[in-house]
Amino acid sequence: MYIVQIASELAPIAKVGGLGDVVYGLSKELCRLGHQVEIILPKYDCIDYSSLKSLKVAYRELWSFDGPQRFNNTIWSASFDGLKIWLIEPHHPNYFFSRGLIYGTNDDIDRFAYFSRTAVEFLYKSGSNPDVLHCHDWPCAIIPVLLKDMYRQLGFKYGGSVLTIHNLEHQGKCSPNNLTKIGLRGQDYLSKEKLQDPSNPALINLLKGGIVYADKITTVSPTYEKEIQTPQLGFGLNEVLVKYKHKLKGILNGIDENFWDPAKDQHLVVHYNTHKIDSSKKMAKILEAKKKNQHHLRTHLNLKDENRPIVATVTRLVQQKAPDLIEHALYRTLEKGGQFVLLGSTSIPQMQKRFSDLMLKMQNNENVAILLNNDEAHAHLIYAAADMFIIPSLFEPCGLTQLIALRYGTVPIARMTGGLVDTVFDIDTSKRPKTKRNGFTFDLPNPAGVNSALDRALQCWAEDKEKWQNIMRQGMACDFSWKHAAPEYISLFKSLSRELF
Ligand code: ADP
Repeated sequence: MYIVQIASELAPIAKVGGLGDVVYGLSKELCRLGHQVEIILPKYDCIDYSSLKSLKVAYRELWSFDGPQRFNNTIWSASFDGLKIWLIEPHHPNYFFSRGLIYGTNDDIDRFAYFSRTAVEFLYKSGSNPDVLHCHDWPCAIIPVLLKDMYRQLGFKYGGSVLTIHNLEHQGKCSPNNLTKIGLRGQDYLSKEKLQDPSNPALINLLKGGIVYADKITTVSPTYEKEIQTPQLGFGLNEVLVKYKHKLKGILNGIDENFWDPAKDQHLVVHYNTHKIDSSKKMAKILEAKKKNQHHLRTHLNLKDENRPIVATVTRLVQQKAPDLIEHALYRTLEKGGQFVLLGSTSIPQMQKRFSDLMLKMQNNENVAILLNNDEAHAHLIYAAADMFIIPSLFEPCGLTQLIALRYGTVPIARMTGGLVDTVFDIDTSKRPKTKRNGFTFDLPNPAGVNSALDRALQCWAEDKEKWQNIMRQGMACDFSWKHAAPEYISLFKSLSRELF
């Protein structure tokens, strides 16, 4: 099949969170299965251009629209890690993608609406006829609307559109004028059946547009598929999702097995192979390698080099990830004699201040390390060096960090929500067979909930090495690669109209 991904992120060259990992990992696996995959991205100035191959101008003259004005765009082609990518560079006076960041400006809606319109215009003008246009989250959710209400009439032929919801919290609420600017008559979409926001009738909701107009909708885990249809986790779109549930499917994300592989991860000081641990000798080698990575991390972060467990988390610092509970877990770990490593990034000034203050408070504590940035290299080393990985999220559509932790032999401690329910199984209480359990879990997002799992994990680490190593082994035996999810996407893509419109 010929599949075009249109997205705001691609890991690791333009990544903020899991969306980027998914676009990368899924595309790699679809290519491996023999499909033709192309990815369209904004040409951000903050892309790591040194890792792109064959970067060149493919089209010099692609006109696009912003209100009554037309702007030229340069379309670049390149390859990244074997993936074919197109980069859209608008020659717009607002320098949409030259701001040194991906999200977080006052005109994000304008930036991504313009990108969406230009991406479809590019496919149309270049005579491309994809079988599938796969769009991701609110930044690209207007694309199915543009396809059905504008480009189909213009004669653009494609098989069908798919919208993947990675996180329902962010919806792209805006004024009807934002649609008018990209060539749709905004006021015409301000109705319940179309793009009107359910909570604020004066606003357009871009994500709702994708839900209403896409031929298929996916979300990133089976549990999240159910949760988003409830008022508790539907963020105001639950009724719309119930209405369109016939086209909604939860497909559990995978992780890219090559990118996240402790056997060859360039950021580790000692490698270890977590495939098929069928002898105690292999397990001993893993423990030894993790110890050496741990020693390196401790030296590097000025942590005391003692026989204490390291509890870690690698996360965006936003409400969803329960910052209060992360802080609570840090104090609890210290109280119980462990060490805590936090790698957190945020674009929210209050959150930055809060954790900078904590960092300052902890600066002389040799059992705590807090790093406040987005740092791929440290993330990899932390996954390998930590003993436990805590994820107390208030909601979690899929969550990739627990999957990475499992692959690196680091035991997850997770709140039971969304994809965490589908991937982490409590060693003591899960209904799964004992040999398939891989971590510690808790239900309620409060300090008592955290303690109920964290205390058991710390106690098990200290007092029952055999049980601890079984949890590690069973976690490393889990297969959360894209080998399972990619065929599910393919059968969904194949269920789209086979005829090009
Ligand atoms: P979300 O998409 O909500 O941020 P996921 O668990 O789906 O959460 O994906 C998070 C991805 O982003 C993982 O690959 C994780 O390693 C990475 N990540 C999160 N925060 C950081 C950070 N501060 N530095 C480096 N990588 C990070």
